Amino acid sequence: MSKRRNSNNKLYLVFLVIALLFYIVYYGTSFGKYLNSNTSDNISNVNTTSSISSEDITSTTSLVNENTTGNIRVHYIDVGQADSEFIELPNGESILIDAGETEDGELVTNYIKSLGYTKINYVIGTHPHEDHIGGMSYVLNNFDFDNIYMPNATTTTKTFENLLDTIASKNKTITEGKAGVYLINQSDLKAYMVAPVSSSYSDLNSYSIVLKITYKNKSFLFMGDATKLSENEITDDVSSDVIKVGHHGSSTASGPSFVVKVKPSIAIISVGKDNKYNLPSSDVIKRWEKVGAKVYRTDENGTIIVTSDGNSLDVSTEK
Ligand SMILES: [Zn+2]
Repeated sequence: MSKRRNSNNKLYLVFLVIALLFYIVYYGTSFGKYLNSNTSDNISNVNTTSSISSEDITSTTSLVNENTTGNIRVHYIDVGQADSEFIELPNGESILIDAGETEDGELVTNYIKSLGYTKINYVIGTHPHEDHIGGMSYVLNNFDFDNIYMPNATTTTKTFENLLDTIASKNKTITEGKAGVYLINQSDLKAYMVAPVSSSYSDLNSYSIVLKITYKNKSFLFMGDATKLSENEITDDVSSDVIKVGHHGSSTASGPSFVVKVKPSIAIISVGKDNKYNLPSSDVIKRWEKVGAKVYRTDENGTIIVTSDGNSLDVSTEK
C-alpha cells in the first residue's frame, strides 16, 4: 500500500516537472518573441498582424505595462466618430491626445487603466470640439496628469466650460499649444508641435494642435482636425512614417501637396461606422494610398496599435 502511494507520488512529481517545463517554454518563447520582434536594423518593413482579437490586444499590452521593451506604442482608440490616441513612450512616460465624445470618457479611461497606467504625463486637447475634448473631463478626474496643452481657442459649449472647471479643480493650468512647443526634446525621442502656426483662425478645426513624435528613425504625426489652411502654414518637416489623418478623413484636410510631403507607410483614419458626414472621403483615401500608405480605419479595424523600436513598425488591429 505504502509502496503504491510512493510510486503515485513519483508519477505526480514527474507530471509536475513536465508541466513546469511546458510553462517555462511557452511563456519564455512568447515573451522572447515579443522582445525580439522589432530588432532588425535600418529596415522600414511593416509587419501587419491583422484580425487579432481584443483578447490578444489585452495580452500583448499587458507586457508593455512594465515598459521595459524600449518600444514606442501608439493606441488609436476606437471611439467611433471622434478622436483619441494614447501613446506609451519608450522612456516610460505617456501622452494622451483627445478623449472622444463625452460618452467615450469612461471607455478611454478604462482602456488606459487596462494598460496599467495611473498617471498621464502629457495631455493634449487638439481643439475644443465635442468629439475631441468631450471625454476629457472624465479622464482627467481619473488620472494624475502633469501637463495639459490646448490651443488658444475658446468656445461657449458646456463641455468646454466643464473641462476648464475640471482643470482648475485639479490646480493645473493650460499651456498654450502651438507650433514650436516641445513636450520632449531628447536625442532619440522628440515630441513637438508643428501647428497651429497662426494666432487666430475663423474656424476651430484650424486651431488643431498637430504633434510630431520621432523615435530614432521612425516618426508619427497626429493631425487632430487640422485643415488644409493649417497644413500649408507648417514650416517644420512633416515627413512621417505613420499619420493620424486630419479631420476623420475629410477632404477639408489631406491636401495633395501635404500628402506628398508626409509620405507615410501607414495612414490611420479615426472614423465612425455609417457616420452622418459620409467620412472618410474616398478621394482622401486614394491620395494617401497613392504615396504608398496602407490605410487603416477605426470603423473597420477597431482599435489600432502601432509599435516601433525606432527602426521597424508593427501594426495590430482589434478586427
Ligand atoms: Zn473631429
